[in-house]
Amino acid sequence: MTANKKYVYKFSEGNGTMRELLGGKGANLAEMSNLGMPVPQGFTITTEACTQYYEDGRKINDEIMQQAMEGVAWMEEVNGKKFGDLKNPLLVSVRSGARASMPGMMDTILNLGLNDEVVAAMIAGNPDPKFARFVYDSYRRFIQMFSDVVMEVGKKYFEKLIDEMKAAKGVQYDIELTADDLKELAQQFKAEYKNQLGTDFPSDPVEQLKAAIEAVFRSWDNPRANVYRRDNDIPYSWGTAVNVMPMVFGNLNNQSGTGVAFTRDPATGEKKLMGEFLINAQGEDVVAGVRTPMPIAQMEKEFPEAYAEFVQVCETLENHYHDMQDMEFTVENKKLYMLQCRNGKRTAPAALQIACDLVDEGHKTEEEAVLMIDPRNLDTLLHPQFDAKALKETKPLGKGLGASPGAACGKVVFTAEDAEAWAAKGEKVVLVRLETSPEDITGMKSAQGILTVRGGMTSHAAVVARGMGTCCVSGCGDIYMDEENKKFTLAGQTFVEGSEISIDGTTGNIYGGIIPTVPASISGNFGRVMGWADKYSDLKVRTNADTPKDAKKARELGAVGIGLCRTEHMFFDPERIVAFREMICSDTEEEREVALEKILPYQQGDFKALYEALEGYPVCIRFLDPPLHEFVPTEEEDIAKLAAAKNKTVEEIKAICDSLHEVNPMMGHRGCRLAVTYPSIARMQTKAVIRAAIEVKAAHPEWTVEPEIMIPLVSEIKELKYVKKIVVETADAEIAAAGVDLKYQVGTMIEIPRAALTADEIASEAEFFCFGTNDLTQMTFGFSRDDAGKFLGSYYDAKILESDPFARLDQTGVGKLMEMALKLGKPVRPELHVGICGEHGGDPSSVEFCHRIGLDYVSCSPYRVPIARLAAAQAAIKFPRK
Ligand code: PEP
Ligand code: MG
Repeated sequence: MTANKKYVYKFSEGNGTMRELLGGKGANLAEMSNLGMPVPQGFTITTEACTQYYEDGRKINDEIMQQAMEGVAWMEEVNGKKFGDLKNPLLVSVRSGARASMPGMMDTILNLGLNDEVVAAMIAGNPDPKFARFVYDSYRRFIQMFSDVVMEVGKKYFEKLIDEMKAAKGVQYDIELTADDLKELAQQFKAEYKNQLGTDFPSDPVEQLKAAIEAVFRSWDNPRANVYRRDNDIPYSWGTAVNVMPMVFGNLNNQSGTGVAFTRDPATGEKKLMGEFLINAQGEDVVAGVRTPMPIAQMEKEFPEAYAEFVQVCETLENHYHDMQDMEFTVENKKLYMLQCRNGKRTAPAALQIACDLVDEGHKTEEEAVLMIDPRNLDTLLHPQFDAKALKETKPLGKGLGASPGAACGKVVFTAEDAEAWAAKGEKVVLVRLETSPEDITGMKSAQGILTVRGGMTSHAAVVARGMGTCCVSGCGDIYMDEENKKFTLAGQTFVEGSEISIDGTTGNIYGGIIPTVPASISGNFGRVMGWADKYSDLKVRTNADTPKDAKKARELGAVGIGLCRTEHMFFDPERIVAFREMICSDTEEEREVALEKILPYQQGDFKALYEALEGYPVCIRFLDPPLHEFVPTEEEDIAKLAAAKNKTVEEIKAICDSLHEVNPMMGHRGCRLAVTYPSIARMQTKAVIRAAIEVKAAHPEWTVEPEIMIPLVSEIKELKYVKKIVVETADAEIAAAGVDLKYQVGTMIEIPRAALTADEIASEAEFFCFGTNDLTQMTFGFSRDDAGKFLGSYYDAKILESDPFARLDQTGVGKLMEMALKLGKPVRPELHVGICGEHGGDPSSVEFCHRIGLDYVSCSPYRVPIARLAAAQAAIKFPRK
C-alpha cells in the first residue's frame, strides 16, 4: 500500500487536463464545475485507485476507503445532507469513467443510500402522496441496479416481477404503477435478492457504497469492456475512475426530468442541438426505451428557464472544448443540473463534417482537425454498411474476426462453384467455408461476403478478401461445420444452402437473416480532410495490390505506389493455376522451363498493366512466395487435367504432389528458397518485370519507371547474393538486348528474425528493405499465422496479450527487431529506403510506430489506404520528426 497517496479528488480540486488520473467523466465534471456550471458537488476516486484495487487482489484498501469517506463527509457538508440520515438523507450515484470514453461498457448505480428506514423517514417528512411514489420508485430502482450491477444477479428476475405486477394491475407502463405497487415491488425485490444470494440486501449506506465502488472497478475487467478495449486500442493498464455524486432527481415529479443531448448531430455532423428528454424520469429510462422521449426542443415549452440555461451551457462547452459535446443532464423542480459532458461519439461522415466546420468556424487548425478523426472509422465510408437502426434491433448469433470491412448479406453457399453459379443467376450469396484456398478465388469474387471457421487476420480468406474489398469474417470457431452435407450450426441455429445470413466485416458479428444495407458515400469533406492529412505526413502510403483493378482502386484512394505485389496471387485465376501447377509439378528442369515459358507472357502482361495503372509511381514486385500446399491440386478432376497436360499418369502427379507435402508449409519451401532450388523461376520473373518496364517506359517516356524487385523470406546474406546474381545477370542481359537505359533496384523483405539480426550484412546487397511483419510476427512469436486465432482468445482472457499481434504490431518484440534492422542497415547504405507491407501497414497504431522509427513508407490493402494516410498524418503531428 502506498502511503499518503491522494486517491480522491473533489470536483473542485480537478480540471479538464486530468483525464489520466480522473478519467474523462471526472475531469470534465471538474472542468464544468470550474466553469461555474450547475454540477452537483461530488468527488472522483482516481484510476490509480483502480490499479491499486487490482494490485491488492481485487480489494479496496483501507486508505482508499478512508479517503472516499472523507469525500462523503465533505459532500455532506456542501450539500447539507447526510448519508443514511433520517431527516435529510444524502443519496448518491456511483459511475465509472475511464480515460477514453467507453459508452455503455461499464457500470453505474443510482439512488445509493436508501434503505427501509431512510425510505420511511423520507415519506414521513413529506405528506404529498406523489412524493411517496417517487421514493418507492427510487428504492426499487436502487435494489434492482445494485443487485444487477454489484451482485451480478440478472436483471431478468426483477423485470419479471415488474411485468407480473403490471399484469396484475392491468397497466402497460411502469409510470402507471402506484406508490403502493412500487412499495410492494421493492419488498419483492429484496426477497428476490435474498432468494438469489442467501443474504439480506445491505442496508448500511457505507457498505452499499464500498460494494458499488468495487463493482465499478471490477467492471473494468468485464468481458464487454475487454472486447471494446481490444477493438479500440485502449490499454488494460489504464483502469477506470469512479465518480460519486449527490443524486438529483428527474423522477421527483412533473417539474422534473432527464435528458441526453449533442451539440451537433452525431449522425450527420449538422450544427444543431440534438437530443431527447423525458419528464418525470431517471437517466436510464431515456436509453432503455421504456418510454418514448420527446425531442429536446420540446423541453423549451415545459421548462423554459432550464432550457435557456442548458442552451447557454451547450454554447459555453463547445466554445471551451472546441468540439461537439455529448451531455447528460437532469432537471429537478425546474432547476438544471449537468451530470456529464464529453466529446461526442459520431459516425464517420459526421466526424468529417464536424472537423471541416470546426476549421471553418475558427475552432480548430487543420492539424487539430486531422487529429480529431479516428482513422478506423474511415472504412465505414468505403464499404456498404448495415442500416444502423436495423442493426440495433438485431442480436448477433456469433462473432469471428472482422477480417475485411463492410457489410454483406445473402444466401449461404458452401463451395466456390456454388457461389459462382448462384451469383450468375443473380443471387446474392455469402460463401461459408472451413477455410478458403486459391481455388476458391472466383467464388470469393462472386460472393457478397466470406465467412470462415478457421484462419486469422492474415489467413488466405482475410488477405484476399481485403485485397478485393470484399467483406470477410474469419475464424469463427463457434460454427459447427458440416461441409459435406452443406450445413452448419451457430448458436443453436442451423443454416443450410440458401439460408439467409448477414455478416459484418468490421465488427466480426454474424447475424441470421438479411439486414438491410446502405451504399457507401464519399463526400467532399473526405477529400478535404485527406488533403490536410497528406500535407502533414512524412510517411508515404503505398498499397498491396496484385491486379490493375486493385491498383487503380488504391490510386483513387490516394496510394502513391505499390509496396507489395504478391506475384503468386497472379495465379489464382483458374486458367493460370493450371500453368502454375504444371510448373511446380515438374520433375525435370526441362519440364519446368516449358511450363515457365507459358507463364512468362502472363506475368509480363500483368506487370505492364500494373505499371500503367500506377502512371509512373513506384511498383515493387515481390518474387514468388507460394506456400506450395496452397497450390497443389487436391481435386481428382484437377489432378487428371494436370496429368493429361504433362503427359504423366495420375499416379505420377499424385506422387509429385505427395513429395511436395510439408509438415510446416509456412516454414517450408517458399520464398527465395524456391529461387535457390529452381533459379529458372527467378530468371523468368526477372525477364517479365524488365520486359514490361521497357515496354511501358517506351510508351510513356514522361513516367519514372524504375522496377523494384523484392526477394522474399531471406534469412542469410549468401541466399540474397545468390538470388540477386540471377536477377542482375538476367535483367542486365534483357536491358542490353533491348538497347535501352533502365534503372532497377533489388531489395529484400525483412520477415525472418535472422534477417533483422544481420541487417547490416543484408544491407550490403539490398537496395531497400520492406518489413514483412506477417511472417516476422509469425516467426518472432513462433505462432502460426493461420492457426493462432484458435488460442488467442485464452491469451486475452489471461491478459497475456491484449490484442492480436497479427493485426496490431507487437512493438516491444517484433518492433524491436524492426528498429534493430534499421539501425544496422542504414549506416551501411544511407540511401536504403525502408517500408512495411505486412497487414500492420494499415493499422493506425502500427503506422504510428512506423513513423516514429523512421520508415519511408507503409503499404496496405487498397481500402485501408485512407486509414493509413490519416494515421500517418496524426503520427507526424503528434511526433514531429525534426
Ligand atoms: C509478410 O510476411 O508480412 C508479407 C507481407 O508477406 P506474405 O503475407 O505474402 O507472406
Ligand atoms: Mg511473408
